[in-house]
Amino acid sequence: MFIIKQSKDLFRYLQKQRAAKKTIGFVPTMGALHQGHLSLVKKAGEESGVVVCSIFVNPTQFNDPKDFELYPKTLENDIYLLEKEACDVLFLPDTGEIYPSGITQTQVYELGYLESVLEGKYRPGHFQGVCQVVHRLIEIVRPNQLYIGQKDYQQCMVIRKLLTLIHSPAKIIICPTLREPNGLAMSSRNMRLSADEKQKAGGIFEALSYINKHMKAGPVKEMIEGAGNLLIQKELVADYVVIAKAEDLQIIDVWDGQTKIIALIAAFMGEVRLIDNMLLPLNFASYGN
Ligand code: AMP
Repeated sequence: MFIIKQSKDLFRYLQKQRAAKKTIGFVPTMGALHQGHLSLVKKAGEESGVVVCSIFVNPTQFNDPKDFELYPKTLENDIYLLEKEACDVLFLPDTGEIYPSGITQTQVYELGYLESVLEGKYRPGHFQGVCQVVHRLIEIVRPNQLYIGQKDYQQCMVIRKLLTLIHSPAKIIICPTLREPNGLAMSSRNMRLSADEKQKAGGIFEALSYINKHMKAGPVKEMIEGAGNLLIQKELVADYVVIAKAEDLQIIDVWDGQTKIIALIAAFMGEVRLIDNMLLPLNFASYGN
């Protein structure tokens, strides 16, 4: 695996690959890699001629400076895991490489409603930061396929919108969420949880599964309350528990029994904020694929 730190070097390398008619699969990450990330790299490897994974902890998408400061960093292990997964290139830029004119954002991305709800509401500026970094990375890598995780469902929708706004031809591939044995969605932030907290954080999956099991046409209030109670029992403090239309994240109070929907939860376990979601009913194929 090549480790490339400068965008001009990566650009030059990828031009050669394109000239050799290889397609480019790209997996952007913030490092502290786990099996969820690696499943994206694996899928990219199955479908692309060259796989590029980036590790860059993007300062502009953290609305909480403490979260940025405490974000786990495990570079040596990340390199080991990527090598094992047959990744071709690790792009490892520093902040100056991604933001040569500084991190102050000049471009505003018109995300509309998507930015006003859920993660957009609870993490002001977060999605602008996500768009800023993904836009820059796409300019550098110019991927044919972009591999992202359903775990960050709203982010998937934001990136889809971004690709339209910047007229990128890259195809989005949304990959399923990998979970710990107790159902907890794998996340770099889980590294900040104690064993006991990890166990209790499995309550998020329990709450989503409760909604899935009890979901029926009509008002959704009872399902939301039941899920909320399960979170409280596990000492999880919720920012939100909602059911929304899978297509556009419009939050619903009543389900017609037919529209494709998604349950989404954000909750704190101690100081660590976790998010997860479940498309309903569970057997409904992943959105967008
Ligand atoms: P991050 O490093 O958290 O920015 O995540 C990088 C990519 O990995 C994003 O597209 C995430 O949605 C995806 N991802 C994170 N956690 C998981 C998971 N448990 N399963 C599958 N993909 C994931």
